[in-house]
Amino acid sequence: MIPYGHQQLDGADVKAVLKVLKSDWLTTGPKISEFEKALSEYCGAGYAVVFSSGTAALHAAYFAAGLKKGDEFITSPLTFAATANAGLYLRAKPVFADIEWETGNISPKEVERKITRRTKAIVAVDYAGLPAKLSELGKIAKRHKLFLIEDAAHALGASYRGRKIGGISDLTAFSFHPVKSITTGEGGAVLTNRRDFYEKMLAFRHHGIASDARMRFLGFNYRLSDIHSALGISQLKKLGSFIKKRREIARRYREAFKDIPDLILHRETPGAKSSWHLYPIRLSGKLAGRRQEIFEKLRASGIGVQVHYLPVYRHPYYEKLGYKKGLCPQAEKFSESEISLPIFPSLTFKEQAFVVKILINHVARMA
Ligand SMILES: *Cc1c(COP(=O)(O)O)cnc(C)c1O
Repeated sequence: MIPYGHQQLDGADVKAVLKVLKSDWLTTGPKISEFEKALSEYCGAGYAVVFSSGTAALHAAYFAAGLKKGDEFITSPLTFAATANAGLYLRAKPVFADIEWETGNISPKEVERKITRRTKAIVAVDYAGLPAKLSELGKIAKRHKLFLIEDAAHALGASYRGRKIGGISDLTAFSFHPVKSITTGEGGAVLTNRRDFYEKMLAFRHHGIASDARMRFLGFNYRLSDIHSALGISQLKKLGSFIKKRREIARRYREAFKDIPDLILHRETPGAKSSWHLYPIRLSGKLAGRRQEIFEKLRASGIGVQVHYLPVYRHPYYEKLGYKKGLCPQAEKFSESEISLPIFPSLTFKEQAFVVKILINHVARMA
């Protein structure tokens, strides 16, 4: 099966990990701050704090922003459940604002409609690696005195108006899961320019114990080990070449599918450069309503396609909380028509040509 995403590791990565395994520090050693420094420099942000997962990073970012019981945060439904779950951990309420059909990213207009007295933060998701409308969202946040938080799990290496993702929003969370831009196995990070957020997150990751060894609040063990951090440092050096390969794959898909009617391709928007975490296609016109069929045919041919995503509030758990179908019609339509094709740095030209051939064959037969 050709997966939709896959890590790329080499000898240098293995060597970096082995070196830590033979050292005195498996965790809470020098590799952690070295990884954090490299991340903050890459992203052009003041501070980075690494965590044991992207979900832990989101939890910490929301905690730093002060999200608590009774607060609301406005986010996109077209995302992995963790974006909303991390707010539930703090007893805050996720409020879903619909997306823009063209990009799958949250609509600033819809965000503005959902602001109430209880809103504390806007959480934008850079869907597929394409930055959300951060400038518009930032202005709305400022006007209403809200924090702008980015779930940039897809978007390490992406940029917006000439700036790297990670240095723009109040808090930006990344994931280093194997399918993401770089991997540490499990892992994540939050970037910020605010020293108070930085210190709060350092304590949050370590039981709520601050640098003076006093526990100030109830935190967690969300530490990343030196073993993971060493892998992250090694991977980060290759991020540029990984993104370049992803861009090349996206370009080839676009070229191969450009004349197929009713196939909507994902495109970059002015000022936003994608990290191409996903290559989403959408079926419209004559192909509308045939997603399941095409999805199953691709799977049967050995192509590990996926759907990103079921709108978060359509999960049974969220339905039990009271969220109803029809809440965000654009996100539902997007979800029902979407298929993610394989895209990752080590996808070969031959594998991609196979994906293209199989998809074109099935679609041609349906026209
Ligand atoms: C991967 C992902 C996460 C969670 O990251 P983990 O490292 O798996 O905890 C959160 N949000 C989005 C959008 C993701 O894709």
